[in-house]
Amino acid sequence: MIKMEAFKILHRDEKREDAEAYESQEGSQKMVDMEDLIIIGSGPAGLSAAIYAARNDLKPLVLGGSTPGGQLLLTTTIDNYPGFPEGIYGSELIEKMRKQAERFGARFENDDVSEIDIASRPFKIKTASKEYAAKAIIIATGATTRWLGLESERRFIGRGVSSCATCDAAFFRDKDVIVVGGGDTAMEDSVYLTKFARSVTIVHRRGEFRATKIMQDRALSNPKIRVIYNTVVDEILGDEKVAGVKLKNVKTNEIAELPVQGVFVAIGTVPNSGFVKEKLELDEQGYIVTSNEVNTAIDGIFVAGDVADKRYQQAITAAASGAKAAIDAGRFLQNEKHG
Ligand SMILES: Cc1cc2nc3c(=O)[nH]c(=O)nc-3n(C[C@H](O)[C@H](O)[C@H](O)COP(=O)(O)OP(=O)(O)OC[C@H]3O[C@@H](n4cnc5c(N)ncnc54)[C@H](O)[C@@H]3O)c2cc1C
Repeated sequence: MIKMEAFKILHRDEKREDAEAYESQEGSQKMVDMEDLIIIGSGPAGLSAAIYAARNDLKPLVLGGSTPGGQLLLTTTIDNYPGFPEGIYGSELIEKMRKQAERFGARFENDDVSEIDIASRPFKIKTASKEYAAKAIIIATGATTRWLGLESERRFIGRGVSSCATCDAAFFRDKDVIVVGGGDTAMEDSVYLTKFARSVTIVHRRGEFRATKIMQDRALSNPKIRVIYNTVVDEILGDEKVAGVKLKNVKTNEIAELPVQGVFVAIGTVPNSGFVKEKLELDEQGYIVTSNEVNTAIDGIFVAGDVADKRYQQAITAAASGAKAAIDAGRFLQNEKHG
């Protein structure tokens, strides 16, 4: 790790050509841009933070990741984001948010952050190609669905395959669906789906559930729910949309086909917090622990969206916390300026 004394920090207002590359202690040429605020992540949380921060004249730099836009790009119609009575495509919603942030001066680079150094000020951020220094950081890197890993699954995400029952259950009115998993989320998703679906089949690879008893009881007592144990999804079938699944019994290797229109994968989510491990407090599942909604133990480091929220995980809740983080970051920078 390059030591801070070795950094030549270029303030945003300085002309880049005036900047000299410097020889770091390790002997490599490094130039570092000094930013007031860097936002890491460009899903609804990062973009909402960018809109609020840019409108507050903080000229944020968004390091949007190598898959900019986040999880909403994995789905088609978003029906529950306020302001769009007819629904809106996830990709269109993200594009509009980004344009709105750019209108007020937010800047974007589509790089993944590999490392941050928050032990001293200014904070340092590393991507594969560059290093940055920032007075404040908002971390909005989201959480990634743990998918089954089938090629056919990838093909049908947004076309009958989902990992979000709260988001997509209403699209499966009077349809037959399966839920894959055996934990609390699988039970909760199954019960929720019964409000819309004609039938819900829980497919679980083991002979018993890992879910708490109360959640199991709630699911198993629902007349619309049945369970297939010791079974995995071998393939998802269909042309344009999901039409069925090929199931494999892991004890007998027997294959069976089940006609369904929806596949809900409920085997967990992984928060994208690896690069702050041992730097910020994480809970047992890797979610960043916050206080006062979007604050961390380190002044100037804020967190927004799904990377700190295993409870709600919705675009609107992520966007809301992005706004909160940007407001708090603005106050923090203002206080720093005036001592
Ligand atoms: C299939 C599916 C359907 C959904 N449907 C709906 C819906 O209908 N309505 C709804 O409200 N919600 C829906 N959701 C949930 C919603 O997408 C999430 O709650 C929301 O996107 C979370 O926003 P976020 O900004 O916190 O994280 P994300 O959207 O996950 O964005 C994270 C961002 O961080 C970036 N990133 C990650 N790691 C790094 C790194 N190391 N460096 C730099 N950048 C990084 C990523 O590239 C991405 O830009 C759905 C989710 C899924 C998976």
